[in-house]
Amino acid sequence: MNRTFLYLLSIFLLASCITQKTEIQLTNGLVIENARIISPEDQALSPESFIVINGDSIVYIGTDKPNINGHFKTIDATGKYVIPGLIDSHVHVTGTDALSDEEELQNPEIVTTFKEQLPKSYLYFGYTTLIDLGTTKPERLADFQKAEIRPDLYFAGGGAVIGNGYGLSNWNDEIPNFIYQENEDYPIPEKYVKENHTPKAVAERIAASGAIVLKTYYEPGFDPTQPPFPTPSKELMAEIRQETHNNNLVLAVHGNSLEAHDFLGQAQVDVIAHGLWNWGNHRLDSTKVIPEEIKKVLDTEIENKVGYMPTLQVINGLNALTNPDFLNVPELEHVLPRVLIEYYKLNVDGMYANVFGGAPKNIIAANFNRISNQGKTNLKYLHDHGGNILFGTDTPSSPTYGNPPGYNGYLEMLEMEQAAIPLGKILAMATIDNAKAFKLDKDFGTVETGKKANLLILNKNPLEDITAYNSIEQVVIHGVSLSRKMLSAKEIQE
Ligand SMILES: [Zn+2]
Repeated sequence: MNRTFLYLLSIFLLASCITQKTEIQLTNGLVIENARIISPEDQALSPESFIVINGDSIVYIGTDKPNINGHFKTIDATGKYVIPGLIDSHVHVTGTDALSDEEELQNPEIVTTFKEQLPKSYLYFGYTTLIDLGTTKPERLADFQKAEIRPDLYFAGGGAVIGNGYGLSNWNDEIPNFIYQENEDYPIPEKYVKENHTPKAVAERIAASGAIVLKTYYEPGFDPTQPPFPTPSKELMAEIRQETHNNNLVLAVHGNSLEAHDFLGQAQVDVIAHGLWNWGNHRLDSTKVIPEEIKKVLDTEIENKVGYMPTLQVINGLNALTNPDFLNVPELEHVLPRVLIEYYKLNVDGMYANVFGGAPKNIIAANFNRISNQGKTNLKYLHDHGGNILFGTDTPSSPTYGNPPGYNGYLEMLEMEQAAIPLGKILAMATIDNAKAFKLDKDFGTVETGKKANLLILNKNPLEDITAYNSIEQVVIHGVSLSRKMLSAKEIQE
C-alpha cells in the first residue's frame, strides 16, 4: 500500500468514526427532541438534547441524534423545559378530601367521582411520586393503586402509634401496629400481648407489608383539660429508630410543637413530618426575630441532619375555612369534581364550625396568619443554615376544603417562594432531596439515563418563575406522555 492510500484510508476511518451514530432499538418508546433539561442538583440547564425512553425507563440522553429503530412516539420540546416529576412525601390518599366517613356513606356519587379523579389531580400539578405517610391499613390504598393513570405511590406502614397515644384514642382493631408503652392515664387493654407490640415486632411487620417508612407520633394532644397523650420516652424512641433502620425503613415522626421538635431533633429521627409552626409561649412579632429557644431547636435539627417537612399548607388550609372565596379559585375545577365543590359551597358554615366552633373568623384568620408566618420564618432560617428540608404537604391534613389534591402542592411551593426560598432549592426539595431522603433516588429525582421516565415538560423555566409549575405542557409517567388537559377534572366532566 502506498502512503497516499493509507492517508485516505485513515481519513475515511476517522470520518466514519465521527458520523457513527448510537443505535437504539425501541419496543415501546418515546423520544423527546430539543429538550432543555434542568438538573435539580446543580440547577444547570442542558443544551437542546434528545431524551430516548424505552418502556418505562430513560435509555439515552445526548445532544447527538441517535439512530432509532422500532416503535416510538416523538415530542418536540423546542422552547420548553424538562424536569423530573415532582415528589410529595406527605400525602394521604385513602379518604375523600375533607369528607368524614359518615359523609362518605351519605354521598356515594361524590366518593366515586373523587376517587376516579384523585390520581389525575396529583399528575395535573406534576406530582408523579407520592408517599402516603400514615394509613393504618395498606389495603385502603387499593382504590388509588388500581387506577390506570396514576402517580407512583409508596407508603408508611400501619400507624406505629405509641401506646394509647394520639391517633389511638379509641381501642379497636384498626391499628394493629401500635407500640406498647405503659401509661397510667391511658392503660392498654389486657387482650393485647406486649411481645407483639415491641418496636422490633412492629418494624418487622411494617417492612413485610411493603412500606418504605415507619411513621410514629410525638403528640401530647391539644386539649389542656385532659391528661397529655403518652409520648415516647427517649429510650423507646432510640429503640424504634434502631429497629426501623434494621428493617431498612425510613423513620418519619409526626410533631409540630416546640416540645416535639426539641425531642425529635435530639433523637435524630430521619424525618419530622411537620414544620415547627407552633412556638409554644413565643409569638412572632414585627421584628421577625426567631426567639433563642426556637433557634436552638432548629440548630439541633440542622446539626443532626434531620429531615424537616415545612407543611405550610396545613395552617393555610385551615385558614381557608375563614375564606369561602377559596372555593371560586379556577384551579379547583381542575382537581376536584364539580359535585364536591358544590357540596363544599353548601356546607361552608358547618365546616368552619366543625373546626373552630363559634370563634370569630377575623380572630382565627389573624392567628393563623401569624402561625403561618412563624412556619415560613423557620423555613427560611433552616434554608439559610443548611437544613435538610423535604417537600411534603400533608394533603389533606384536616377536614378543610383548603388542601385540594395536587393544587395543594402548588400552593405549598408558592408559600415557599413567599418565604424567600430560592426557586432552585424548591425544585431540589421536591425532586432529588425527597428521592434521597426516602431512598428512591435509584429510580427518581433527576432526568438521567437508567432512571424511570417520570418527567414534566414545562412551558416556563421553573428556575425563573414559580408559576412554571402551573404551566405544565406534558406529564410523562413511566414513559407514557399525557397532555395536562387529559388530567383535568373540568375537561373530563365536559
Ligand atoms: Zn399527615
